[in-house]
Amino acid sequence: MSGRLAGKTAFITAAGHGIGRAAASAMAREGARVFATDISSDALASLAAEHSEIETFVLDVLKAEDVEQAPARVGAPDIVFNCAGYVHNGTILETTEERWDFSFDLNVKSQFRVLKAFLPLMLAKGGGSVINMASVASSVKGVPNRAVYSATKAAVIGLTKAVAADYVAEGIRCNAICPGTVDTPSLNERMRASGDYEAARKAFIARQPMGRLATADEIAPLIIYLASDESRFVTGQIHVIDGGWVM
Ligand code: NAD
Repeated sequence: MSGRLAGKTAFITAAGHGIGRAAASAMAREGARVFATDISSDALASLAAEHSEIETFVLDVLKAEDVEQAPARVGAPDIVFNCAGYVHNGTILETTEERWDFSFDLNVKSQFRVLKAFLPLMLAKGGGSVINMASVASSVKGVPNRAVYSATKAAVIGLTKAVAADYVAEGIRCNAICPGTVDTPSLNERMRASGDYEAARKAFIARQPMGRLATADEIAPLIIYLASDESRFVTGQIHVIDGGWVM
């Protein structure tokens, strides 16, 4: 198999839809052996129908014991893409304790669980590339109505830099990606949940200076770059990909 990821094994969370799915497809096209996981078996079945070479299994990243079992199926990956995450809309006053805890569990602690499970194997193998999903809504930019979401994504950036610093001499690279607004199923769900889909869509587009949202396929090339050896001198960085939202 040829391609920029030929000979590499990749493990991805939340690969059933959106950015995770686009990354799984792109990694497979670049020659990686891809293990795509998601909480949704239907989404994984549709991904596998499109790409018979992608191996899939259901994994809820909130379940510590299930994440611990994942290396038994995957072995030692060269690439880990921690994509799972959830957007809670609201100011701090509109955020309950329960939503706060859930957001940190899904957006941050899931990455902690995945890295605890896979890092020892990656270290034993001599290295690898970790890509953590953050967001422009984080320490990068103050975005209204994203209090806990931004706090979680800022925590992802902190975790990314700490992992990068701890293992830089042992061949592990760890980078965070910060997309702007990407047209994915969860974004559309949130626009529908607002009660006025068209108005919500217009508002999302209005904050993007290019006058449009990104597609998930436009985020995938950055993930391929960070996963590949082309980025072998790049670690501990925040990679903003947002159509000029932050300049
Ligand atoms: P999406 O809705 O298109 O896909 C999310 C996937 O996560 C779904 O397949 C869903 O089944 C899966 N999932 C949900 N809970 C899970 C769990 N507990 N365990 C495993 N899988 C689970 O989402 P998306 O918009 O592509 O977002 C993916 C990531 O990108 C998130 O971390 C999100 O915060 C981040 N992000 C998205 C945008 C955007 O505008 N869409 C912008 C910046 C960052």
